[in-house]
Amino acid sequence: VRVAPADLGADGSSRRVFLLTYRDISQTRRIDRMRSDFVANASHELRTPLASLRGFIETLEGPARNDPKAQEKFFGIMHEQVTRMSRLVDDLLSLSRLELKSHIAPEDTVDLIPLLGHVRDSLVPLARELDVTISLDVPEAPVFVQGDRDELIEVFENLIENACKYGQEGKKVDVRLTGGEGKQTEVMVTDYGPGIPAEHVPRITERFYRVNVEASRSKKGTGLGLAIVKHILTRHRARLLIHSEVGKGTVFTVRF
Ligand code: ADP
Repeated sequence: VRVAPADLGADGSSRRVFLLTYRDISQTRRIDRMRSDFVANASHELRTPLASLRGFIETLEGPARNDPKAQEKFFGIMHEQVTRMSRLVDDLLSLSRLELKSHIAPEDTVDLIPLLGHVRDSLVPLARELDVTISLDVPEAPVFVQGDRDELIEVFENLIENACKYGQEGKKVDVRLTGGEGKQTEVMVTDYGPGIPAEHVPRITERFYRVNVEASRSKKGTGLGLAIVKHILTRHRARLLIHSEVGKGTVFTVRF
């Protein structure tokens, strides 16, 4: 609250008027807080692999100097850490690029049928590794949406990859597209894994939010995937709906 005394003065009176200006800064504070949490989280995520790399370098320069077996093992782990850091930096860059253009709607028109086919094909090797089968169910006629091809690929790659990774024990992932002829255009990605406890569902699209940090790390997650999905969908005026039942599985629906 700002109090600004001002003299009226016009009629020669000596009355003073006080102007009170109220500004609700709770939203600004919340955004500042989120921003600094984000920087702290990102720094922490990068510092962990860096500390481990430093440890390995010191060991390779010292105790493991003449131990080829240990060297091979340590180089393998260092390679994994560097890959993890690169993935994180790529995701951070994606997020900041998306933030810059969040208010600009995409201009191109994309047919979702070949796009989803492309995403499925690119994820077959991972699915095979995890012993998961991805099924794709699409209508006959093309389903066009206004969108950016690369960004939509990123959305469906993230959702289908998560379904395979976190729903691995369900052994299958169903991807279903509906739309065309006045129907609502939707893509549903269903897994039959452990599901997400209800209290976590509203928060899993937040940056770095994970239901289980260790499980996410072991599955090569950065904790940014769904935040990127949400940003892209906002720009596409599309919504992400999450329906999950513990012990049964999860459905992520993208509604255009
Ligand atoms: P990550 O890089 O950790 O996978 P995401 O932003 O993609 O990050 O997902 C956030 C968290 O949401 C994951 O760490 C996981 O705990 C949870 N999650 C996402 N998809 C699923 C799913 N299909 N089933 C269960 N949990 C999921």
